[in-house]
Amino acid sequence: MDHPMLAVEDPATGQRITNVPDAGPDDVDKAVRAAARAWPAWRTTDRHAALASCAVVVDEAAAVLAPVLTEEQGKPLREAKAEFARAAARFRHFARLRLEPQVVGDGRVEVHRRPLGPVAAITPWNFPVQLAVAKLAPAFAAGNTVVLKPSPRTPLTTLHLGRMLTEVLPPGVLTVLTGQDPLGERLVAHPGIKKVDFTGSVPTGKHVAAAAAPGLKRLALELGGNDPAIVLPDTDPADIAERLFWSAFANCGQNRMAVKRVYAVGPAYDGIVEALAAFAETVVVGDGRAPGTQLGPVNNKPRYDRVIELTEEARAAGARIVTGGRLDGPGYFFAPAILAEAHDGMRVVREEQAGPVLPIVRCSTVDEAVELANATTSGLCGSVWGADEERAAEVAMRLECGTVRVNEHMARTLDEPFAGSQWSGLGGSWGVDEDTEPFVVHRRRG
Ligand code: NAD
Repeated sequence: MDHPMLAVEDPATGQRITNVPDAGPDDVDKAVRAAARAWPAWRTTDRHAALASCAVVVDEAAAVLAPVLTEEQGKPLREAKAEFARAAARFRHFARLRLEPQVVGDGRVEVHRRPLGPVAAITPWNFPVQLAVAKLAPAFAAGNTVVLKPSPRTPLTTLHLGRMLTEVLPPGVLTVLTGQDPLGERLVAHPGIKKVDFTGSVPTGKHVAAAAAPGLKRLALELGGNDPAIVLPDTDPADIAERLFWSAFANCGQNRMAVKRVYAVGPAYDGIVEALAAFAETVVVGDGRAPGTQLGPVNNKPRYDRVIELTEEARAAGARIVTGGRLDGPGYFFAPAILAEAHDGMRVVREEQAGPVLPIVRCSTVDEAVELANATTSGLCGSVWGADEERAAEVAMRLECGTVRVNEHMARTLDEPFAGSQWSGLGGSWGVDEDTEPFVVHRRRG
């Protein structure tokens, strides 16, 4: 009998590109068993060369696979290539990492880091390559094996990249399983899985936590964000507009750590609305394959419909759409929208909309802006923008989130931890800490 298949869609046309395998329970079982078989040898192997080879594979794959990523995800080709470059850099970073035991206490206690076993890595559709490698690189460096499940909306690039990576890895160390849900749920529940490394939405993250509980599996949940940016009264709008714009709209706003709501204080308000709208109107929206495109389509119909619905709802509740909105199809195109006079009563402000729309809330005082920014269950990132950097840094310290930045929102190094607070995450990533557990060797005092 033929294997069931899953259709992959091009968001720029709404047309089917191709099919990928739709994995069932037997495929899950086979992949996890292979990961378990591969683990004992893999955990004791010197893995640095393998990680370095993975970096080379990702670098070389970009030429062939960046266009595939653009086709299934929608992002401009330049951004697709950049995603591969970031992923390769991450493999290189982890290839250099050395796992030395720490000696503590009075010198008789050694703390080793031990790998966990087969890991289920589950990714969303916004950065399929980058987020897959963000899970693979530390897992491999730690000595874990991985079954990787991409989103059913963007399975193609991951499937191809997985095939290339398995050529430089021992059998079973990596298996990519594509398919529609409940594939993810089945993978999480499989008794052979020791850790679940999940990136996705808050509601799904809660299901994953519940499904992992009976086996007390280790968990890393990187969940949704609703990141605030506070613009202080001394800000020069012309100076920050372009940076703030891309902090909100890169990848069509489909980014866990994009600015999703702006709180502009006092005299900063009108200037920032005007400057953001003026910049938005210069941005080229179109097919990601076309040269010059800066923003592609929204990745999928449900997300597109949600962006339209939240924008219309905000307009009905008194928001002013200064610029942007739905563009004629085919495809899920939406010109970047700036919403003035937004307020926290609107869902577009309160909920993660993760699309190309940015609500701007007017605040009278900095205290009010901080209070509104913190009035949420999300807590991924935040930023504060102002001419006086010290003053902005003081305000930044008051935000309730995992990472706060001053006069920028996206910058990140591979050395820093990444973990959301509140409902934006549980665990996270910092080196191989989350992919290992401590193993303590305590010698008797002589
Ligand atoms: P989603 O939660 O619907 O799906 C994410 C992944 O989980 C997909 O691969 C999906 O197939 C799988 N899945 C669905 N149900 C499952 C279940 N019961 N058990 C196991 N796996 C299951 O999210 P999405 O719509 O694909 O992605 C967008 C969301 O991801 C946004 O909320 C965004 O903010 C968030 N995100 C967060 C981060 C972060 O680091 N915090 C990064 C990227 C995206």
